[in-house]
Amino acid sequence: MSILIDIFPARSDNYGYLVHDTATGKTAAIDAPDAKAIKEAAARRGWTLSEVFITHHHTDHVEGIPVLKRDLGVTVTGPEGEQSKILGLDVLVKAGDTVKLGESEFQIMETPGHTLGHIVYFETAGRHLFSADALFSLGVGRMFEGQPGPMWAGLEQLKALPDDTLIYCGHEYTAANAAFALAMDPKNAALNIRAAEVKRMRADGRYTIPVSLGMEKATNPFLRSDQPVLAKAVGLAPGADPVDVFAKLRKAKDEFKG
Ligand code: ZN
Ligand code: FE
Repeated sequence: MSILIDIFPARSDNYGYLVHDTATGKTAAIDAPDAKAIKEAAARRGWTLSEVFITHHHTDHVEGIPVLKRDLGVTVTGPEGEQSKILGLDVLVKAGDTVKLGESEFQIMETPGHTLGHIVYFETAGRHLFSADALFSLGVGRMFEGQPGPMWAGLEQLKALPDDTLIYCGHEYTAANAAFALAMDPKNAALNIRAAEVKRMRADGRYTIPVSLGMEKATNPFLRSDQPVLAKAVGLAPGADPVDVFAKLRKAKDEFKG
């Protein structure tokens, strides 16, 4: 029981993912940023796409649904909490549900904040987390709809996954995120090493993902909202409520000019 993952760029800075269950050949796309890019990736691999797993309602994650349904007859799974905002959902899921792709299983976790109903898909056997815009490498999605408390709680759930979990996020934002992370946490040795690596990877045209959760826990300022050094960076006392630190970090990032 294992999966293969195809990563491909879509739109301007989205990542598209195909997940292939090796036991049965069943294949799912994570989100539908661009039907053409998804179909090309499937053709390149020789995989037949039958499922789409949607994380949230933003256009850059759902726009390909109608064409994929029309051309391939895919079954679309997505968040119950956003059913009124996403056209073409066939299967509704919520926290605690399990989604199957052949013999592979994905646990659904709710990560509100970027959007209220945002969900992520955690493939349990191989520990692959498809986090879309809830968790990026060195950052988190902009808080368009939610509140800091629930958004932090969602991230804490993700932090509780095993450190060797591999994170596949929705966008290539890592270099810009690294600049903000370094401004907040300049003496973090692991972050300095990761930021230099990201610079090299981007210069070589390489993807900066997947990245391990262990690495993110050591370097992502938002995941480190419970650390005194980040409280201090946003002008709060060491030991401040992580929710307050998180809220201030999110606001600082919105205003950050690099
Ligand atoms: Zn989004
Ligand atoms: Fe997005």
